[in-house]
Amino acid sequence: MRRTIKSAVSIWKNRSVLWPLTLLARTTICALKNTPRGLIVEPSQGCTGNCKGCSVPETPMVLKKEKLNSWLNCSPAKPVTIHLSGKHSDPLASSEIQSLAETAIKNCSMLSISTIGLGMKPEHCQLPVDRWIFSIPAATDKTWEQLRGNNRLDEVLENIRMVQNRNAGTMVEVVLTIWKASQNDENAFRQLKQKQNWQHSKIVFGRYDPEGNHFGRLSNIALKHKDCPYMENSGNSAIPALKQTPTGCPLAGYLFLDAAGTLRPCPFTGDESPYLKKAVPESWEISDQWREKKQERSYPACKWCP
Ligand code: SF4
Repeated sequence: MRRTIKSAVSIWKNRSVLWPLTLLARTTICALKNTPRGLIVEPSQGCTGNCKGCSVPETPMVLKKEKLNSWLNCSPAKPVTIHLSGKHSDPLASSEIQSLAETAIKNCSMLSISTIGLGMKPEHCQLPVDRWIFSIPAATDKTWEQLRGNNRLDEVLENIRMVQNRNAGTMVEVVLTIWKASQNDENAFRQLKQKQNWQHSKIVFGRYDPEGNHFGRLSNIALKHKDCPYMENSGNSAIPALKQTPTGCPLAGYLFLDAAGTLRPCPFTGDESPYLKKAVPESWEISDQWREKKQERSYPACKWCP
């Protein structure tokens, strides 16, 4: 909640004085029309990380602004939030990122972008977004190298500075995702935060993902960390177990539009769960039926979701 309030205050400073009213109106319309308040959009299947052991498609799909527009235009209500993100991919790998961001910001009250912050070009700093989220997997040279097979910590620090310097007033948040190799990096991350003058930061745990080419694999999960949501599974050593039985879906109010223009319940559900390819009003109606299944956690991917 504190994070949401901080984001809202920061966005209000950069948007018009009437922004809280449009935010309230959009939230109300989404609730009345049973439409998700948030849309996570994957701009590209490509990635800028080039990490050892991780493979991306040879010809990554790239979402076009026309496709995003066609989904938004047939929705009964425009989303409150659009989040440009990826699934084993990075939004900044998209050649269409500028036009996608321009389309998205016209159609929502909060636009954020989540990136690994690598391979950035100066023009990326000018993207019209309300919030930048930089996700780093380690906070020291050594642990970054261990995890990714290369060390690009300095590069991401430089890119965060570049965005901070060119976007005074835009919220910039840095998130450390803890993996096995970086399970002792919390202090190093706090020191970096102080040294780099990051105003907003967060520490989260890597999510187990059996489909993850490299990152979400069991061997990378910080099972020994006391706060990790996963533990060793006494019944099956090939998969982890969740320490606590989770409650409802953490993304109940969101849907995921992937780089192929397919609407899905969330970024983690694959083809074994329902999905919709046609951007028509009926698709939004059908997607409303997914909410209950998400809350029940009845999709195959839900069993790994903390
Ligand atoms: S995997 Fe299931 S519980 Fe997790 S975000 Fe997706 S729908 Fe929700």
